[in-house]
Amino acid sequence: MLNIKTFVFNPFQENTYVVCDTDSRDAIVVDPGMITPRECSQIEDYIAGNRLNVKMIVLTHMHLDHCVGANALSRLYDAPIAASAADAILGVSIVGQATRFGIYLPESEAVRASIDLTDGYKIMVGEYEFTVITVPGHSPGGIALYCSQENIVLTGDSLFRSSIGRTDLPGGNSRQLVENVRNKLLTLPADTLVLPGHGPSTTVGEECATNPFVM
Ligand SMILES: [Zn+2]
Repeated sequence: MLNIKTFVFNPFQENTYVVCDTDSRDAIVVDPGMITPRECSQIEDYIAGNRLNVKMIVLTHMHLDHCVGANALSRLYDAPIAASAADAILGVSIVGQATRFGIYLPESEAVRASIDLTDGYKIMVGEYEFTVITVPGHSPGGIALYCSQENIVLTGDSLFRSSIGRTDLPGGNSRQLVENVRNKLLTLPADTLVLPGHGPSTTVGEECATNPFVM
């Protein structure tokens, strides 16, 4: 069975997802946003308690709140970090991003991905296949992760319930974001469950009908 556990971390109330196949216990962690020791132990206890094998750390984009916990998890589980190369410049500016938002980081190294997530790239979680959909606009390297077997898409900060991501940060482009959300996410089956980078889940159908930013 596919299981997705949601954690809400850091001052930005960012959604961190642990996606696992309960049969093989293979897992990926999407957007690890832990900053405090308490947040780190919450996710580590969950992974240990469920005896999960973390195979990859996947970043929907490299804004601070989505990748600040990536290095620690990558080291702990010896799992590679995957993200779009188009966001590499954001990964090396983690300290600058933190300063901009007035956040103190106990660990201040750059986040670097060793796997480049390009459009159509496949990530296996046990027997479940997730396909990368590139959705630049919120950041240059924004991606979504779509599992057609289970009708689920993790959208990062491209699409939220009744909203879309901000586009005023470096590399953001509002026209590009709206076009990508319309053409690449809202064209998925209407009953697809949307798990966004912040806030509650929704469905493609609900956003097609009610999201004022993409109508
Ligand atoms: Zn973001």
